[in-house]
Amino acid sequence: MVEVRAQRASKPVTVRAAAKINLHLGVGRVRDDGFHPLDTVYQAISLHDDVTVEVADEDALTVDGPSHVDVAGVPTDASNIAVRALAEVSCGSRHRVRIVKQVPVAGGMAGGSADGAAALLAHDRLHDLGQPDDVLLAQAARLGSDVPFSLVGGTARGRGRGELVEPIDDAGSWWWVVVPAAVGLSTPEVYRHFDRLRPDAPEQPAEPLDLLAALAGREPVRLARALHNDLEEPAIDLRPELGTLIERGEAAGALRGLVSGSGPTCVFLCDGRDGAMEVVAGLSEHYDVVLPAVGPVAGAHVLA
Ligand code: ATP
Repeated sequence: MVEVRAQRASKPVTVRAAAKINLHLGVGRVRDDGFHPLDTVYQAISLHDDVTVEVADEDALTVDGPSHVDVAGVPTDASNIAVRALAEVSCGSRHRVRIVKQVPVAGGMAGGSADGAAALLAHDRLHDLGQPDDVLLAQAARLGSDVPFSLVGGTARGRGRGELVEPIDDAGSWWWVVVPAAVGLSTPEVYRHFDRLRPDAPEQPAEPLDLLAALAGREPVRLARALHNDLEEPAIDLRPELGTLIERGEAAGALRGLVSGSGPTCVFLCDGRDGAMEVVAGLSEHYDVVLPAVGPVAGAHVLA
């Protein structure tokens, strides 16, 4: 049984939700309904958005973040996923929502999904609903494929469209370096390019067997060899500079560089904290924003 941290809080409620990376992203051939079957291993890392929700007379939304996060790229109307989440679950109440973003926008790190998950949990705690985890997870799956994982966090396997989440025991503490791009990539565009490049993709997505063994071994060199992303080729084909970035990160000492999900953010697995700091120093000569992170971390949770 999947567990979402149960906690009650007084108003307003702030929920922290983490960015995800995909340690394995197996993508199968597009189905008739337009979706791609996935077999993925997510990990939540220590880069997060904080979403505060309170009851208000009128609905309102503000989005803030550091200068390197493209908050202007986040819609502030009804299409914002946090607003969509509240519209789905609230019975007539109006809410003021404040999102403080650290997760790159359209970066392949499911920042929007994190905000959706955070809004669902904040709404539950704000109105003291105490809904069981399976109800929250079903609401999350209706919002988007990555939203259930944002609730669960840690390290987990995702199947179906990614929404069927099963936690994985992961006692490791993995160090990453994250390099966001100034301009995001559209996830549907990357999938369309995957379809063009891989018309022969197998119906069943690649299983993460090597990766699961490597996680259990808790050895970063082995994990580095097992990382896999079927969307890396289309993302690099659309943005060739990502190939250069990955080469530079590996030359700076990363065990392995990888496009995160549909990109364009790239993540680098490093040999512990010291290794990550070396890679941060090396990549900072070329890139303005280079962030160390550690995973796995908890799923969406109320801040005390
Ligand atoms: P994916 O989950 O597909 O990997 P992503 O991480 O690449 O997504 P997101 O940051 O989740 O990208 O945003 C994708 C798009 O969703 C944005 O370009 C934006 O238009 C829209 N969006 C809606 N709500 C939000 C939100 N709260 N935060 C960020 N983007 C949002």
